[in-house]
Order: sequence, then structure tokens, then C-alpha cells
Amino acid sequence: MSFSSQIKDELLNITDIKPCCSLAEMYGLMLFAKTFSKREMYLNTENEAVADKYRQVAERLSLDSVEMTKSQSGKCKVVVNSEKQRQKILEAFGFTGNERSRRINWANIANECCLSAFLRGAFLACGTINDPEKNYHIEFNVPYSLHSDLLRVFGEADMSAKEIKRNNSYILYFKDSEEILDLLTYMGANDSVLEYTGVKIIKEIRNNVNRKMNFENANFDRIFEASMRQVDAIEKLKKLGRFSRLNPQLKEIAQLRLDNPDMSLKQIGEQLKPPLSRSGVNHRMQTLLNMADEL
Ligand SMILES: [Zn+2]
Repeated sequence: MSFSSQIKDELLNITDIKPCCSLAEMYGLMLFAKTFSKREMYLNTENEAVADKYRQVAERLSLDSVEMTKSQSGKCKVVVNSEKQRQKILEAFGFTGNERSRRINWANIANECCLSAFLRGAFLACGTINDPEKNYHIEFNVPYSLHSDLLRVFGEADMSAKEIKRNNSYILYFKDSEEILDLLTYMGANDSVLEYTGVKIIKEIRNNVNRKMNFENANFDRIFEASMRQVDAIEKLKKLGRFSRLNPQLKEIAQLRLDNPDMSLKQIGEQLKPPLSRSGVNHRMQTLLNMADEL
């Protein structure tokens, strides 16, 4: 089951709802479906339980039966077929049916408590959320006429969605895991919030370990590259007969490097008697590199 379906199933199972909030939830579900007008009213969804909920709401408000079909690929479509039924549903939410575009009728979400139920309905109709294992993303796919209204709903709930135009609709989305958790909590998906938080914590631990390992690998690569340059320089000195003429201090360091290409400068310094600091070793190594360069 997709993470979207899991959350939608959880949201559909919230039953302890006040009458005012129940109306707001039905309104969110109907309004944010694929279409909502006197001419056309239907919902497309991959989630059969959501389709069934839409069907029940439409039947309850229009006092007549509504058809639900399911394609072979599992997509459900619920269509309110008769104009008389569509008119009844529009009137139930305070519309005449002659409105030019789909907008929110704020009278249906009059109380503060209703806002979360309304968002829940909207998410059921047009929302999707990605599995947090993959990436943090939740979105509402809405028509142009509703996008500013929905932004306002988020604003009233102290959330600020980002938006992007995709084909003929607008996507309102959140990418920040904390914001997504706030939204899920707000809609009442408490079990999924716990699961989401768990995945997030494990991911953060894993990312920290990876970051540390990458850092150590990069560090090791850097040491190794520098060491190879030094070995090349020392071998060049040898080939051109300059090695035997080096002063004893330089010769000692050069030999240590040839024998231990994987040692850091600090470790080479520790091998010397008396020991030499990293910068001291670096200084001598630099002298060797310069001598090889000049040849
Ligand atoms: Zn309410």
C-alpha cells in the first residue's frame, strides 16, 4: 500500500467529528474533486475507500444513488450523473449553480474547528504524499480558481505552502519534514505522524554516518594524493643522482616517505628521533618537492 493510501485510510477512519466539522469535511472532499459544477461533478482516485466516501456523501446530499466505476488498472471514478443531483449538492453548500468559477464558500468552514476537517477532505480528494523513505513531499493538486483560496486556508492554520503550476492545475506543496508533520498532525493522522517521525529519525542518523564517512574518505584521498606527489619527487631525485647528496635530515624524511606512502605527515614526524611536528615535516617535504621541480 502506498503511503498516500495509508494516510487516507487513517483519515477516513476518524469518526469522532462534530456536525459542523463533518459538513466542512464533506465540502472539502466534494469541492476539491476533479470537477464541481452544475455541468459536471466527479472524482478520480486510486483509493477505493476515498471513492466510496465520495459516493456516500454525494448520495446523502443529493438523496439519490451515485455510480462508482473501477478501471482494470484500479482507478476509481465516481460521477454524479444527473443535473438535478448536482444542483442539490451545490445548494447544500450554499451555491446557486450559476457561479462562474469554483471558489471556497467560507460559510461552510465558519468555525476554527472546521478548518482541519476541511483540509482533511481536500487532501482525500486531491492530495498525495510521498513515502518519507524516498523524500519529504506532500501536495494538493488544485484548479487555478481554488489555489489562492487554499493558500489562505493554510495561512489560517499557520502553514505556508509553496506553489508551482503544472499543466492546467496548481500544485500546492510542502517539502520540509517538520511542516509535513505539522500538516499531518493538523489533519488528524496521528498514527502516521508517529511512523513518519520514526523514519525521519532513522534517516537522519544514517545521513550523519554517511556524511562522516564521506568526510573521512575525502580526507584519506587528499593525504594519499599528496603522498604520491612526494614519492614521485623523491624518485626523480634518486634517478638524477641527487638523493645521496641530500643532507641527513632531508634524506631521513625522504626515505620514510618512500617506505610508508600511506602515512600522514604527522605520523612521519612521530617516527623521527627526536619527533618533529607536522609543520616541520611539511616544511622539509616542501623543500624536496621544490628541489625536484627545479631539476
Ligand atoms: Zn467544526
